[in-house]
Amino acid sequence: MAELLKLEVVTPAKYVVSEDVEIVMAPGTLGEFGVLSGHTPFLTSLKTGRILYKDANSKEKMLFVSGGFAEATPNRVTILAESAEKSIDIDVNRAKAALERAQKRLAEQKSENINFERAKSAMYRAIERIRIAETRGL
Ligand code: ATP
Repeated sequence: MAELLKLEVVTPAKYVVSEDVEIVMAPGTLGEFGVLSGHTPFLTSLKTGRILYKDANSKEKMLFVSGGFAEATPNRVTILAESAEKSIDIDVNRAKAALERAQKRLAEQKSENINFERAKSAMYRAIERIRIAETRGL
């Protein structure tokens, strides 16, 4: 059996995951990374995307994540995210409404405007949530 490491995913709003896992994949700002037990320590910021991991029974699971930081040590991955949800906790209607709002704001703003960048980030979050919700079961 693969050696396990502890995965902790926390946001300002809630504790999302605290579980022993075999492997974690996460979206670092410099690229996607994977962590197994025994990994060299490192710290990275995170972008919007998905965290994939295998639990202690080798079952694959998926989380939405947006922003924040991940710290890896040889036996632990700690993710302090701006927002994160398990795929089963994603409210698709809320994400669809957020997507519509963001698209409307994008149509109204100029691309050099800071609100344009905010609306673009909101759009990416909504699209990723909808995609992850479509692969429910993980
Ligand atoms: P919204 O405009 O719907 O709030 P958002 O992308 O601006 O979307 P975030 O700032 O990423 O929302 O998250 C705020 C909080 O709401 C976080 O705790 C996040 O987990 C939760 N959240 C946001 N959207 C959803 C969703 N579609 N389903 C479940 N939880 C959500």
